[in-house]
Amino acid sequence: MHVIMMGPPGAGKGRQAGRFARERGLPKISTGDILREAIKEQNPTALAAKARMDRGELVDDAMIIKIVADRLAKPDVQVGFVLDGFPRTVAQAQALDELMERMESGPLIVVDVAVPEQELVRRLASRRICSVCGTNAGPSDAATCAKCSGELVQRTDDDQGVVLERLKVYQQSTRPVLDYYRERPTFRVVNGAQPPERVASELNAMIDDAAAAKR
Ligand SMILES: [Zn+2]
Repeated sequence: MHVIMMGPPGAGKGRQAGRFARERGLPKISTGDILREAIKEQNPTALAAKARMDRGELVDDAMIIKIVADRLAKPDVQVGFVLDGFPRTVAQAQALDELMERMESGPLIVVDVAVPEQELVRRLASRRICSVCGTNAGPSDAATCAKCSGELVQRTDDDQGVVLERLKVYQQSTRPVLDYYRERPTFRVVNGAQPPERVASELNAMIDDAAAAKR
């Protein structure tokens, strides 16, 4: 089973991807995790990518694709995968298609965890962080941080600005990726503006349905 989890920042896509991967015994592959792993393993492409990031430069598609390709060549991926945060551009999506063809695996099941922008902004505004260690408080009502007992505070406007900027970047670069996949019989949209439990159960059913539909 080869699943790609898409969705804007704040949609809960990472958490859903992790949960689904655990339940189905699939490796969850996120580009952040891969990069950290690959740097630890002294993967030359990953080290070059890190050097660029350290200089404040962007890591280009070719580099990201190479790093993901190296990761997908590992044996644990034979059962499938849940991709989180990749592909982010159409060029990456095309490269992944080529990779899948070469690996003779697939089909890719693409799930968009869709949440309206107003709801994302509302979630963001109600989100609190620890004033001491910066940990995200999540939806809890607690007054203090679970990790260090520091005081929980509302995020600043600056933080909100950062997230709004990320949303804008998402709209510009990742929307086209959804359009790239949209016409496929294995493309699904789940309503992410529901309680996480509900999203998870709908997502499970949709993925099974898409797997049965095949290419
Ligand atoms: Zn704390």
